[in-house]
Amino acid sequence: MRNKIVAGNWKMNLLKEEAQSLTAELIGMIKDEVSRPVNVILFPPFLYINALIQQCNVESRIQIGAQNCSNNSSGAFTGEVAAPMLASLGCKYVLVGHSERRSYYGENNRSCASKIDIALHHNISPIYCIEETLKERESNIHFTVIQKQLEEGIFHLSKEKFSNCILAYEPVWAIGTGKTASPDQAQEIHHFIRKAIEKKYGSDVAANTTLLYGGSCNDQNAKELFNLPDVDGGLIGGASLKSRSFMNIIKSMP
Ligand code: PEP
Repeated sequence: MRNKIVAGNWKMNLLKEEAQSLTAELIGMIKDEVSRPVNVILFPPFLYINALIQQCNVESRIQIGAQNCSNNSSGAFTGEVAAPMLASLGCKYVLVGHSERRSYYGENNRSCASKIDIALHHNISPIYCIEETLKERESNIHFTVIQKQLEEGIFHLSKEKFSNCILAYEPVWAIGTGKTASPDQAQEIHHFIRKAIEKKYGSDVAANTTLLYGGSCNDQNAKELFNLPDVDGGLIGGASLKSRSFMNIIKSMP
């Protein structure tokens, strides 16, 4: 049985008090409205990680992750944050290869691979984001793009290490655009990803790997997406910034 996860990527949003209020609201709502075990991961800006980990001590269903980490473990890299620093705060997850990192900060499959290695070395589970652009989809090369991101970014791992990773399919054309992949499109590509994992690591690993969908997922479409056989939850951007909409997405998990 694989882990079902709803993750909120806050990106570069919210001031400290806003981040703490949103977290407090989510803790209260989960307590009052959700009786099942759910796995929620919040990805706030680095600055708030420490405080939010302390705040979430009272609610084991909410974990805190980082939106990025350096591919070096320490040293003269001004402005960077290293995986061992995150680990020292008790941070258990990190996003790697988000399309905004790839397009604005020059990240590529190779740099993602080394971030994944360093995160795993410090017992942090990477959520590796893979995605195609609209042009790539329209040119019908999206499967090739995804396959390459898998091969170059994560398929170098051993079976044991890969088993500690989560993948998120996030079509660039759906991120922050209000355009969501249709259920057919999401299932088709998630199934393709699971088959690629099966080919590389075998059916047990494929069956146990959590695959998240991301891209304009909201409280109107989450239920349909989360019910797809190969979708195990979502990575939510905009709709994770308001407690009610995010909670409704969490409650959409079957
Ligand atoms: C994201 O940036 O990971 C994302 C899915 O954003 P949004 O939900 O706003 O499309």
